[in-house]
Amino acid sequence: MSTLRFHAVKASLKRKPLKIKETKRQSEIFGSNVFNEVAMRQYLTSEGLNSVTEAVEKGSKIDRKIADHIATGMKEWAISKGVTHYTHWFQPLTGATAEKHDAFFETIGNGLAIEKFDGGQLVQQEPDASSFPNGGIRNTFEARGYTAWDPTSPAFIYDGTLCIPTVFVSYTGEALDYKTPLLRALHAVDKASVAICKYFDKNVKKVTASLGWEQEYFLIDRALATSRPDILLTGRTLFGHSPAKGQQLDDHYFGSIPTRAMSYMRDLEHQCMLLGIPVKTRHNEVAPNQFELAPIYEEANLAVDHNSLLMDIMQKIAKRHDFTVLMHEKPFVGVNGSGKHNNWSLSTNTGVNLLSPGKTPMSNLQFLTFFINTIIAVQTHEELLRAAIASASNDHRLGANEAPPAIISVFIGDQLTKVLNELESVTKGKLSPKEKTDLKLNVVGKIPEILRDNTDRNRTSPFAFTGNKFEFRAVGSTANCANPMTVLNSIVAKQLIDFKVEVDKLIDDKDMKKDDAIFNVLREYIKTSKAILFEGNGYSEAWEKEAKKRGLSNNKTTPEALKIKKAKSTIELFENLGVLNKVESEARYEIEIEEYILHVQIESRVSGDLARNHVVPTAVKYQNILIKNVMGLKSIYGDHYKDYAKEQLLLIEQISKHIEAINSLVTKMIDGRKIINKLEDLDKKADGYCHKIKPLYEDIRYHCDKLEIMIDDELWPLTKYRELLFTK
Ligand code: ADP
Ligand code: MG
Repeated sequence: MSTLRFHAVKASLKRKPLKIKETKRQSEIFGSNVFNEVAMRQYLTSEGLNSVTEAVEKGSKIDRKIADHIATGMKEWAISKGVTHYTHWFQPLTGATAEKHDAFFETIGNGLAIEKFDGGQLVQQEPDASSFPNGGIRNTFEARGYTAWDPTSPAFIYDGTLCIPTVFVSYTGEALDYKTPLLRALHAVDKASVAICKYFDKNVKKVTASLGWEQEYFLIDRALATSRPDILLTGRTLFGHSPAKGQQLDDHYFGSIPTRAMSYMRDLEHQCMLLGIPVKTRHNEVAPNQFELAPIYEEANLAVDHNSLLMDIMQKIAKRHDFTVLMHEKPFVGVNGSGKHNNWSLSTNTGVNLLSPGKTPMSNLQFLTFFINTIIAVQTHEELLRAAIASASNDHRLGANEAPPAIISVFIGDQLTKVLNELESVTKGKLSPKEKTDLKLNVVGKIPEILRDNTDRNRTSPFAFTGNKFEFRAVGSTANCANPMTVLNSIVAKQLIDFKVEVDKLIDDKDMKKDDAIFNVLREYIKTSKAILFEGNGYSEAWEKEAKKRGLSNNKTTPEALKIKKAKSTIELFENLGVLNKVESEARYEIEIEEYILHVQIESRVSGDLARNHVVPTAVKYQNILIKNVMGLKSIYGDHYKDYAKEQLLLIEQISKHIEAINSLVTKMIDGRKIINKLEDLDKKADGYCHKIKPLYEDIRYHCDKLEIMIDDELWPLTKYRELLFTK
């Protein structure tokens, strides 16, 4: 075995699970590192607390004087927990989280110092942001951006630092982060939903979008993971023959969690508890060494922050357990990839989940209204929703093996399909009293009962209704949920606005009663929703053909998928909703396409290096052993040597062929990159990387993987799939 691989395997075999001591109940420590209501009651006046509460609930501004008071309270609370520094914590468009720490400490002359943190420092900071992606926004204006406090997500202590969740914007006010448009989209869906809720209940004042994400990941021994240059640099394996045993036995799924992994999870969950991340579910996933972690759902903005924070914590905790977390959507070919299901619903300040059928026919009509409007929103904007989950890494997962396809469709189950069919057959225009009673009692009224027994779950659907929420399953495991959540909430907001216009028109022009008007519009919607509804196997080839007939998009690669983001219709949609202006939309497109290019470029370089510097030299070494062997046989058997060296000669020849193929492919790939790198046009560049470069390194992989199973295991330099996947 090559030295690096040998040491990695040896180290991994010696590992013991870390002992985790939990002395307190989870409920006792929950949120103890969060400046939550409990902490605020202790450190703020009631005026301060009310001001924060109103900002959270009504979006009202916090007065500067009160901000000073809140800052002081926050500082005292943090210092009482041994904190020395604070940071504005934000989510730039790199996908990771960013922070710049400043000490509370300040000198005041005469050799004296104090701890200081005022409203100004709480509310705004100017990080040197010139190296964050900005899609050209800041180049044309000021070279700086600033972060501004988001009081809707509470401050927390992480790694001894007080972290203040903030938005990140340019001096001219354009969003440079994920949070800003999300907050705007949540505001849009709130406003649009409240307007619809008023048809049913005048007391509704606020509608909140909720999100419950399910984070999938692989846990790989740290020594094994770092012995692979491709994992180290790209987060996935670029080479590697599938092992004799893969996941075909499905023996990992819901099996008992290996002890080392278990100890990691408990440690991780402990940290999550302190930070108020309500993690609840842990289990093995389908692939070996693959796991999932899911929380109790929360308000979407908070849930997004918590997921971003979680991804950071996961890596940090992994270090002390000698694990590497692979968050990548497809770290191993031939093995299930990882996703991050986004469970989404809307609920009112009166405590009603709008996507859950209620107790009365009228509340069920409200449920149907939101349910059907969501379906129509997805139908109208399916391509945009696909774009929201596009990334170089998710391209490997969408459509691969177990994953949802690149086609967006909605699954609602047999029973709700029946309900929609019955509603569709309702007479047009005003309903007779009898028709109405019938409808309310026999169709709408029965929804809760039928849903209770509705257990059929289609795991192949990218967007499925699961009883009281929609589950957007095509989101990638590395994604920042803000992106899909911004798009989903925006398109639903837009659809609800359009719906209201139609209903009001029937009420005003046709003198219809409110529920007649709603039934009429919904009935027309059901007719047009047929294209997006799909109950069958989403992974089948037949569906691809069928979807094409229905006119659904099937954008398999990121460059194709992203195009819709710069379409006039998209720019107008976001502009009208106040989510993104034209400059912001265009900048985002540019950033994402650029990120795609860089991603593929890095993979291509790593693949070339590995092939030339690791695989080919090893192949030559083994070939030399074979040649020596053949020469030895010749010296013993003279002219008859071929009778004894058939296999060796064949191997020598095959190895030569693979080496030759690898070398010519690598050369072609490098030459190709040189040409493509010179292209000015980003779209053409992305296209080149996608369709010219990527296929080349996939071909290189083919030859390297063939060599892996030919060459003496002792010599092979790259840690093998079986070692990466089956070490527990
Ligand atoms: P699975 O999809 O793995 O079977 P569940 O469907 O039980 O798991 O729940 C998955 C996630 O859905 C959890 O994070 C849960 O908190 C979340 N969830 C449940 N109800 C809602 C809701 N109303 N809105 C958003 N998320 C929800
Ligand atoms: Mg799920």
